[in-house]
Amino acid sequence: MSWQEFLARVKQLPKGTFWRHGQAGDLPGRGTLISRSKLRELAKANNGKLGYAYTHKPPTRSNLSAIREAIRNGFAINLSANGPSMADRLFETGIPVVTIVPTGTPAVSLTPKGRKILICPAQRKEGMNCANCRLCARKRDFIVGFLPHGSGAKKVSEIAAVN
Ligand code: SF4
Repeated sequence: MSWQEFLARVKQLPKGTFWRHGQAGDLPGRGTLISRSKLRELAKANNGKLGYAYTHKPPTRSNLSAIREAIRNGFAINLSANGPSMADRLFETGIPVVTIVPTGTPAVSLTPKGRKILICPAQRKEGMNCANCRLCARKRDFIVGFLPHGSGAKKVSEIAAVN
């Protein structure tokens, strides 16, 4: 699907639709650079809907500026960290943050700088999912944590423990 076709699909979503961008990808752009113009188009197409996304792209001045503009225009974006210390650094941008956490992290924990990490409710409570939780689409004063799962869990947990 071309970018224009994708934008058209987003535009056609019914008002108020809660949707996640980039299930298996990142924000538009090349390499580590976010395309401000494409992100602007995406935020515009999302107008009236509740789109949200995660990005692993680095918090460069240019990327942060593009992200802030999109958030101002109603498209929710989370910076993704590889662990609690990195989450602390990203949190200082003022943009919502999510992070992986080591296996065994309790439902509520603290980063090295004392910020609260709340484990994703879908990982803790039966019947919770993104549609009825929506934390990742909200402005919040805490970090959302994801416990490692699946076949790569051990490796991911090791990464989270040192980041
Ligand atoms: S269930 Fe909530 S916290 Fe977990 S990924 Fe979905 S919106 Fe985010």
